Parts: sequence; C-alpha cells; structure tokens
Amino acid sequence: MSRIQLLGMSQTELERFVVEELGEGKFRAKQIGQWLNRGADIDEMTNLSRSLRSRMSEMAVSNPVRILEAYKSKLDETEKFLYVLEDGNLIEGVVMRYHHGDTLCVSTQVGCRMGCAFCASTLEGRVRNLTVGEILGQVVAANRHIQAQDETRKIHNIVLMGSGEPLDNYDSVVTFLRRVNAPEGLNISLRNISLSTCGLVPKMRAFAKEGLPVTLSVSLHAPNDDIRRRIMPIANAYPMNELLDACRVYVAETGRRVVFEYALIRNVNCAMEHADELAARLRGLQCHVNLIPLNDVPERSLEAPSRQDVSAFLKRLEKRHISATVRREMGADIEGACGQLRRKVLQEGQTI
Ligand code: SAH
Repeated sequence: MSRIQLLGMSQTELERFVVEELGEGKFRAKQIGQWLNRGADIDEMTNLSRSLRSRMSEMAVSNPVRILEAYKSKLDETEKFLYVLEDGNLIEGVVMRYHHGDTLCVSTQVGCRMGCAFCASTLEGRVRNLTVGEILGQVVAANRHIQAQDETRKIHNIVLMGSGEPLDNYDSVVTFLRRVNAPEGLNISLRNISLSTCGLVPKMRAFAKEGLPVTLSVSLHAPNDDIRRRIMPIANAYPMNELLDACRVYVAETGRRVVFEYALIRNVNCAMEHADELAARLRGLQCHVNLIPLNDVPERSLEAPSRQDVSAFLKRLEKRHISATVRREMGADIEGACGQLRRKVLQEGQTI
C-alpha cells in the first residue's frame, strides 16, 4: 500500500492526521509543517520523539519526490534535475538562476497526452497525473538542493512548464497553487508563478474564475488553425478564435496580460506573412509574445530557423505593435528542453 504524502496536505489535513492517526496533540502539525517546508525527512524531525518518528515513517512519507541526479550547465548556472517518485516513475525539472532570483520549472504529469509534434514529453503518452504532494515536492526538493550550495538562494519564481499539461490535472494543480502560496507553506507569491497550457479552452475559462492571479502562458505556436492543427492535435478540439476568446476572459477576470508562447519552426510558422497574420489575430488583446527558437528534437524532423529569421520575425511583430521577446536559451548542454532528459534516461535503459 502506498504511504500517505504529508507534503501537499493543508494545515487542517495535517492536524487531522496528527490527532487521528498518531494520537498526538494538534500543535505537532505546526512543527511537522515547518519541517516539511524545509524538505526534511521524517527521521530528521528531531523535535519529535524517536518512536513517534518511526510510527510516522511506517504510514507516511514527508516528500514523495527525491532528486536522483542533478546536472549543472557549464554554460550558465542552470541545473537540471531528474527526480524519482515513490513508485519509481521519473520526472524532470530545471532551475534557472536569474538576477532577480531562482526560477524552477515544474512538471504536472508523468508524460503527457497532448501529442504536440515538437515536444519530447508526449512521445510515450501520459503515464499518470502527479499528486499535489508531488508537484509541491519538486519545489521543496529543489529549494533544499540549491540552499545546500548557497544559503541565500531560494526558489522565487515557478513556471508550470515541465512535462505534462497542467490543466489536464486541474484539481491537483489548483490545490498546489493554493498550498505553495499559503503563508504557513512556502509563501510564494502567485504573481511569481506562470501556468502554461496548450489551450484546453473550458479549463482555461474555469481557471480564470479561481481567483488565482498567476500569469497564464498559452502555447500558440501558429498564426492560424491550419498550421496549428498540423503541430498541435488540441487545435482540432478548440479553434483559435475560441482559444483567443478564453484568453480575453482571462484578461478581463484577472486584469493580467496573457503570454503567448510561439516556438519558431523552420518552414512551418516563421515566414513574414505568418508574423503579419499573428499580429492581426492578436490585435487588441492585452498580451506578450514569447518567441522560442525550436529546440530540435531528434525524433522529429523539425528544426529551428536561422538566427536572422528569428530576429526578422521579432522585428516584424514589433513593427505591428505586438510586444514580443525572444526567449534566452539556457542549459543547452544539459538537455534543457522539456522531456528531453527523462526520455534520454529511459532510452538508455539506465536503472535506478
Ligand atoms: N503542456 C503545457 C506545458 C508545457 S510547457 C503547454 O503546452 O504549454 C512547455 C513549453 O515548451 C510549451 O510552450 C511547449 O509548447 C514548448 N515546447 C515543447 N517542446 C519544445 C521544443 N522542442 N522547442 C521549443 N519549445 C518547446
């Protein structure tokens, strides 16, 4: 039987566990909660008696996520993690060190079922959703790891841009956002969190009403439905006008601009006419476009355009008064892009 995951519980749930399962006083929940935020194992919770710790360990686990391997880029300070879950599944994450603090890229599912043509996370489909504890556990494990290197470091920003489609694991993701923001939890501001979706329109509309002022990133990657359908199966379910309407609802409900991610793919979506069409579609929408030169995935014959084509596309959008930037590439030597590391490890049949 799998053990109870303590990380991811609310304060009330933790109190109930302490009273009902352990037969201890409520105040223990606060003590345990503080250890959980720091990423301590149950063994390390030294203000609890040895016998209490051993009883707890039999039925529960503090953090269900463990860093199995960490790879540091030689080019910048980006560090990539391969995490192992309690059931042996692997997920990955990456921490990027910016001048304004550390940003962690977090996964929400093992694998993904969205089937985007250019994405390595989806090649073997979705294995399962992550639990709240497993999503939060990545942040806690990464925090502990970077603080061991330098105690002034701390995860300051979170992007839900690892493997998985966050809105396909809606309830756990929403609960995660509330937990990670809770004052008794990690207390990370929702304004420092981005949620990226391939465009599950009904879920986007529901999410707009949750009262969570995170940045919504939408993986658009195309200026029209024809091109989008060729690279993103989800475009068959929701045409672009419905997607953009849901974005307008998000802006209206939250007062926050939407960020569109646009991976530039050679001979697919980066001609000048595509920039013009994109600018026309986005006109009047409070948004920013993040251009990402495609990270080549060897399994697919899709590649990035030349640097000149990237900057020409950017200039064309700017000329049409669309706010846009080209995303800086980080950790290029450590399989920095989504799903690439886990896939490499699975392919090489590395055992853990
Ligand atoms: N499922 C969510 C979260 C994944 S976020 C979503 O689709 O938004 C990861 C971002 O990286 C998405 O914008 C995704 O489309 C993009 N991406 C995936 N593979 C890529 C690649 N090979 N090169 C560039 N961007 C890629």
